[in-house]
Amino acid sequence: MLVIETAEALKAHLRPLQREGLRVGFVPTMGALHAGHLSLVEEAARHAEVVVVSIFVNPTQFGPNEDLSRYPRDLEGDLAKLREVGTSVVFHPSEDVMYPPGHQTTVQVAHVTQGLCGAHRPGHFEGVATVVAGLFGLVHPDVAVFGEKDYQQLTTIRTLVRDLHMDVEVVGAPLVRETDGLAMSSRNAYLSPEERLTALSLSRGLFRARDRYAAGERNAALLIGAAHAELDLAGVQPEYLELRHATSLVPLERADGPCVMLVAARVGKTRLIDNVILRRPS
Ligand code: AMP
Repeated sequence: MLVIETAEALKAHLRPLQREGLRVGFVPTMGALHAGHLSLVEEAARHAEVVVVSIFVNPTQFGPNEDLSRYPRDLEGDLAKLREVGTSVVFHPSEDVMYPPGHQTTVQVAHVTQGLCGAHRPGHFEGVATVVAGLFGLVHPDVAVFGEKDYQQLTTIRTLVRDLHMDVEVVGAPLVRETDGLAMSSRNAYLSPEERLTALSLSRGLFRARDRYAAGERNAALLIGAAHAELDLAGVQPEYLELRHATSLVPLERADGPCVMLVAARVGKTRLIDNVILRRPS
């Protein structure tokens, strides 16, 4: 496994392999890796001979009052985990490599970034789309794998790739949970034992909605109400709890087609997100 820090070294390593016809799979991350991230790497390896994982805590996707400075970082631990799952290349650029002096181009995806996290994290998806476009320009992946955990992000990347005619296949990988249901997240490290118990109300609420859906309920307000009841019991006030169309992310009043329920909430100082796909797009 090679660890590469510069754009020149990355291209010098990858381009000859690509000219030979090897497929490159790419997994962008911010590090502090857990089993959710590793499942993405394994998925990339199913699509490509060369697997590139980037570790870059991207400053442009954090708001001024967010957790950029204290975001968990564990490069040595990450490298050990990535070696185990058959990573070919770890790209670990500095801020200057991704945003060299004179950098002035940003990417805005207009509609799917509205509402949900977009409403609570102004500039977040512009930061995400910009860094992913830059990483794609460096890596030239055939396939890029993103987690359904960050559902709005995955939708944003699909839209970016479609609209800018990028030759990248975007693969969504299922959300990986702890055994008790909590969605795995690097930010779970911030939770005290007590907060972690409170945080379980997010997945419990979503599962309750999923059960109601499985029993035939299609009214969005009632499905959302079922999830909300679990949050109320735990004393959690969501930033949002919504039912949206699974591909367009348009808000829905009825769960008749492909749809996803998404939630974000603060538990203590930690902002958590989770979702369940009630029906997948075909
Ligand atoms: P991050 O390091 O948080 O930027 O996440 C990097 C990638 O891992 C993104 O595509 C995330 O959606 C994905 N990811 C994070 N947590 C999970 C999880 N619990 N299950 C599946 N994918 C995840």
